[in-house]
Formats: sequence, C-alpha cells, structure tokens
Amino acid sequence: MAHTIQAYTYHAAMFCAPCGATLPEIDPEGNDRTPVYSWHLSEFFYFDDHIGVIFPQCDKCGQFIGARFSIEARTWRQKKYGNTYYSLRITGQGLDLVVPMSYGHGTLTFRHRAATELGLNWGALSHDQRREMFPVTEYAVPRKRDLHQLATEAGR
Ligand SMILES: [Zn+2]
Repeated sequence: MAHTIQAYTYHAAMFCAPCGATLPEIDPEGNDRTPVYSWHLSEFFYFDDHIGVIFPQCDKCGQFIGARFSIEARTWRQKKYGNTYYSLRITGQGLDLVVPMSYGHGTLTFRHRAATELGLNWGALSHDQRREMFPVTEYAVPRKRDLHQLATEAGR
C-alpha cells in the first residue's frame, strides 16, 4: 500500500493534502498537524440514513477528500434491437457493490448511477469531482450472462 498522505487534520479541521502541506505543523491554538493516510480515511466518512454517505471536505478549498470509488462497467449490446445494457461493480472505501443489468451506456451514466446507488448528491459534485471520485474502466462483453450478477443470482 502506498504511504501517500491523503489529508491533514488539526483538532477538528480537515484539509486536503495540497492545502494541508502549506499549513504550519502546529496551529495557533497549539494543535499538531496530523497526516491522514489512506487506511485511516474511511474513519472520516459518515453515513446518514437520509443523505447517504457524507465525505469530509477540505476546510480551505472545499474539495471532497479522498473519496474514490472504482467503477468496473460491463456493457452488452443486444444485436437484435440494438439496445445497450450495462452492469457495474463499484469498489472503494471498504465498499463492494454490484449494480445488475440496466439499460443505457456511457461514462456519465455509470458515474451518475454509482453516485445514486451510494446516496450521494450528484448535483452537488463538480465535473472534476465526479471524474476524480469515480474512475471508470469499461469492458464490452459478448454475452448477456457476462454482465455482473448479484451474488444471489449467480448462486442459483
Ligand atoms: Zn484543499
């Protein structure tokens, strides 16, 4: 695991890595600047029943900190009608989620669906944040059954 600093915290404030790196090691109130590594980052995430996942934001620049969900998208084109379907596997921050076959295609569709599944407010994310938070890898698969299956379906 790369020992990359994801963020810095003082007493109650949190800063993204670039902003935090410019701040003093001890703040005016005497609090130490503490680095946050990737394996600690999920401790700063919250889940709210109504809002969904809440990510920490940098107190200086407002950027969401460290929220990364890799999307593996599989697409399947139904030749007879020319329709394209997709399925997703969303992983990151201890999460591993499958979105079974749905109609549609395209990176924007995948990202929007992932955000919706995670309970994130899509409209509140900038284009850059959407791109950074949801790196997408896409594979076209030859058969419908090559799409991601829910564990319960695969086990039948
Ligand atoms: Zn920042």
